[in-house]
Amino acid sequence: MDRPQTNLAELTAAELEAAVAALGAPAFHGRQILTWMYARGVTRFADMTDLPAALRARLADCCTIATPALDSRQTSSDGTTKFLLRLADGRQIEAVYIPDTPAQTFCISTQVGCAMACAFCLTGKMGLVRHLTAGEIAGQVRVLAHETGLAAATFNIVLMGMGEPLHNYDATMKALGILADSRGLGLHPKRVTLSTVGLLPAIEKLATEPLMPNLAISLHATTDEARSALVPINKRYDLTALLDACRRFPVSRRARITFEYVMLAGVNDSRDDARRLVRLLHGIRGKVNLLPLNEAPGIPFRRPDEARVDAFARVLAEHGVRVSVRKSRGRDIRAACGQLIVEGGRKSPGQRLADQLHSSRA
Ligand code: SF4
Repeated sequence: MDRPQTNLAELTAAELEAAVAALGAPAFHGRQILTWMYARGVTRFADMTDLPAALRARLADCCTIATPALDSRQTSSDGTTKFLLRLADGRQIEAVYIPDTPAQTFCISTQVGCAMACAFCLTGKMGLVRHLTAGEIAGQVRVLAHETGLAAATFNIVLMGMGEPLHNYDATMKALGILADSRGLGLHPKRVTLSTVGLLPAIEKLATEPLMPNLAISLHATTDEARSALVPINKRYDLTALLDACRRFPVSRRARITFEYVMLAGVNDSRDDARRLVRLLHGIRGKVNLLPLNEAPGIPFRRPDEARVDAFARVLAEHGVRVSVRKSRGRDIRAACGQLIVEGGRKSPGQRLADQLHSSRA
């Protein structure tokens, strides 16, 4: 019978030290392992050449480093690259590299599927298949950083792939802790943006975290009636409660909360919506990111035309609200935000990427 192996990808530096000490080796070798995994992208114990040979053999015997396997990658004409990754249980997730200048960004998933059931999102239709572990979340960054050659460079991550990160709170925060370790990738929390539909208790908890990422709220509507239809969690945590929580959220002097607003023709894109949005955001250090919908089969909404988007943006700007219109990246390979879905998140014998689409992340 196979002996259970300890998966070192799930461990923080302190936990790695403890794991190594439990094998009778000096604890500092745990920190070296973290550097091999994250800074150097090495996962074979035999290749960790500054560890004693006896320890390498012992590790190979009783430990593993589970790493998302790269099933496929597709690069768009604009350089955006979509990675289809396979987890240890055979389920697949997607992560995206967006080579914007000057920032380089990885868009990372936190769940297989999603329980939030947003009306414009095919991932929501999958339901929640399962949460990702901390090691699987951090592992996506580890894989993408090395596949793109950016491990030693400065990059950002956005938790805007499949899933609602605050619904998988502990694993997400543990992953951010692992990624922040300066002996690994040294990803400062200010380079991380966490996007949520508004799980209020988790937002309150996030506000107390020492490693607090930037906050983005998937807002998408300006009345409770419209938002509850688009983002069902609004029935539990309505606009007033959500925006009050945003007012209380500790935003550093140079930062702002991002409000994502997917624009759906004839649904939430009127001048009245824009004016209401101005009023809703009063007193919040925020900025609005308008996301004209990336249309796709199975999504019962249309993308507004440019004039409509411009008119909406102009109302916000005229009232002093910072606003940007997100340029859609990677649409030709369905890697644009909101175009990530893996069929059912089921165990897959091969590369079954359903060419459909999810979400708000237009
Ligand atoms: S838009 Fe985001 S939160 Fe809503 S169902 Fe899709 S993945 Fe989940």
